[in-house]
Amino acid sequence: MSLRIFNTVSRNVEEFHPRTAGKVSMYTCGPTVYRDAHIGNFRSYLMADWIRRFLEHDGYEVNHVKNITDVGHMRQEVLEQGEDKVIAAALAAGKTPEEIASYYTEVFMRDEGRLNILPATVFPRATDHVVEMVELTRRLVEKGYAYEVRGNVYFSVDSFPDYGALSGNTQGGLLEGVRAEVDPLKRDVRDFTLWKAAEPGRTLKWPSPWGDGFPGWHIECSAMSEKYLGPQLDIHTGGVDNIFPHHEGEKAQSEASTGLRFVGYWVHGQHLLADGMKMAKSWGNAYTLDNLAERGFDPLAFRYLCLTARFSTRLNFTFTALRGAQRALVGLRERVWMWSSDNADEAVAAPEDSARWREAFWERAGDNLDLPRALATVWGMVKSDMPSRSKLGLLLEYDELLGLGLASVPDQYRVPADVEADTVRRHGLREQGQFKEADAVREELRGQHYLIRDGREGTRVRPLSASEQHVVPWRSVSSSHEVPSFADREDTVDFSVVVVACNYLEDVQRCLSSALSWSDGHSIEVVVVDNGSTDGTAQWLEDLTGRDGRVRVIHVDHVMGDAAAKNIGLKQSLGRTVIMLDTSAEITGDMYTALARQLEDARVGVVGPFGLRTDDLRHFDEVSVAGEVDAMQAYCFALPRAYIKLAGLLPETFRFYRNLDIQYSFQFKDQGLQVRADPALPVTRHTHRVWSDMAEEEREKLSQSNFRRFLKQWGERKDLLVGSG
Ligand code: AMP
Ligand code: ZN
Repeated sequence: MSLRIFNTVSRNVEEFHPRTAGKVSMYTCGPTVYRDAHIGNFRSYLMADWIRRFLEHDGYEVNHVKNITDVGHMRQEVLEQGEDKVIAAALAAGKTPEEIASYYTEVFMRDEGRLNILPATVFPRATDHVVEMVELTRRLVEKGYAYEVRGNVYFSVDSFPDYGALSGNTQGGLLEGVRAEVDPLKRDVRDFTLWKAAEPGRTLKWPSPWGDGFPGWHIECSAMSEKYLGPQLDIHTGGVDNIFPHHEGEKAQSEASTGLRFVGYWVHGQHLLADGMKMAKSWGNAYTLDNLAERGFDPLAFRYLCLTARFSTRLNFTFTALRGAQRALVGLRERVWMWSSDNADEAVAAPEDSARWREAFWERAGDNLDLPRALATVWGMVKSDMPSRSKLGLLLEYDELLGLGLASVPDQYRVPADVEADTVRRHGLREQGQFKEADAVREELRGQHYLIRDGREGTRVRPLSASEQHVVPWRSVSSSHEVPSFADREDTVDFSVVVVACNYLEDVQRCLSSALSWSDGHSIEVVVVDNGSTDGTAQWLEDLTGRDGRVRVIHVDHVMGDAAAKNIGLKQSLGRTVIMLDTSAEITGDMYTALARQLEDARVGVVGPFGLRTDDLRHFDEVSVAGEVDAMQAYCFALPRAYIKLAGLLPETFRFYRNLDIQYSFQFKDQGLQVRADPALPVTRHTHRVWSDMAEEEREKLSQSNFRRFLKQWGERKDLLVGSG
């Protein structure tokens, strides 16, 4: 069964034909080893692994190269800012760059192993190939595709007319969001760096015809792929974010230097998302395999999860989905285990039946790697009425592609002789009708982490895996979409107090007890969204719900964005008035009566103590007198629940809280509703620890990106400002 695959450069699904019969050369852009690779990165490496496994099953010999970028400055945009992430990480940890790189290389290799990703034939390290990079750069200068300015060498994009053919980006330039100063030494802004002169004091540098310096990022892959695979390769893979500028740059360098077509098939995997956004360390929504393991997941459950989406579509990661994947994986393992039992039926299927299932699977997998449909075939076959021997054979054959490690299940599930003996004894007890005693044996084995299964193939016992032993203390949700909205229900209380709690237990306690203790004479409920707390806050909240029936908790299984967490609270509220309260706030008097009075006026959408005014939508000042304002700060933000339908929920692209309150205030103003401040409301602010504990650079970045979001939607709406009339 041959492979048809989407080729980024032709924008078509093409039948795969290698340059040399029987052999495939494949290059995968590998990790930058100054930090952990996250599971989004691994989604890209899994895609490459599935392509490789398919081709190997098809009889090809695959020569697979995956580079290790062990100098962080090779990232082009960072390089052009003159910052080296490996050096920075090393300094921060008191280690040498080599130590940092070799540590993360080891972690990467271990994680690939845990995901059953076949090791590449070669893992060339960038620092071992600087000579080759210099040589390639020299060739490009010689041929007139590159030029030197004061020890720096740039690729001249203008000299290579095919630049842009891969990405469609002919303008060059940097990716959106990367704010680098334009290098004044470049002849054209689109030109990119092949070699950069070392600044005084730099330790990581190499000699070159242009003086001491270090190589660019794209040149690394061109030089190493040529060394290990020759000037032309069959397949080059990466994530879609590699298309530009990285692969466009690689292609230009390689093709300019050799005059040959560099790559036959460019294959790019779509991103793994989390909370609807690209998983990336800088967004704070990235998980490592260790993070999954800490939560009781088997790394291979993640592999299974990636099988459920085509590589060309984005996949939103949630723990709920991962839990589903893990259940399915255990289901396959148990079948392999049962079917490989000595008692299993010896019968085999008619050859044409097996052949039909075999072809269906490989046909689907070969159809642009349609693994979700191939997986549907797996389950169809598994649940078919073929004899189990045949099903076992087929499933293990499928697993040569899937890579779920099913062949090792019988070994993994083997138990010591005494456990086996207990199982036989239990069986005897059952035969004699002594069910109570039999159940006691089962429970005892369960206590020792063994599981007895009574199936068609007889009774079997197996160890429980670490993930199966992991106890989940309470129900939790992965996204706000899993939480039903009570918007259409009648009010059941006067006030819903919505609090999003993420660690800082003392703050949570102070905030909640103040809200509860000043509520005499009012009917209130407190809806707490436990946003992935890890410091005991979650347990304390659970206990509180037992002590105080007015409190409800919804646990989130990770730290989700602030808007999403608040939306859960808004959706779950049943009070006539909803008060969003920040955990840094403390109520110091009967705020409820005052709020209710303010909201009697139907024109008022939002009330709170800490209002903001602006003239230009850029600068907001806190007001000290009561009256209408332009926005209300999130410390205490009250609204009639009925108006949520008008204003809508919060936009979940706001992961960080900052400026989200302004955004939400404008949603009310846009509906013709007023935002009113009453500085006399009895609410005190304490240190806002989410803010004070955050590094300044991080704060700035997150605040800025939220502010940009706000401006994009409301930047022209001065008409909504109080001062406009
Ligand atoms: P990096 O270390 O950032 O170069 O990433 C290594 C590989 O992971 C590259 O092929 C990226 O395109 C890919 N990648 C990065 N983030 C994601 C993501 N969220 N989902 C899928 N692949 C990703
Ligand atoms: Zn690369």
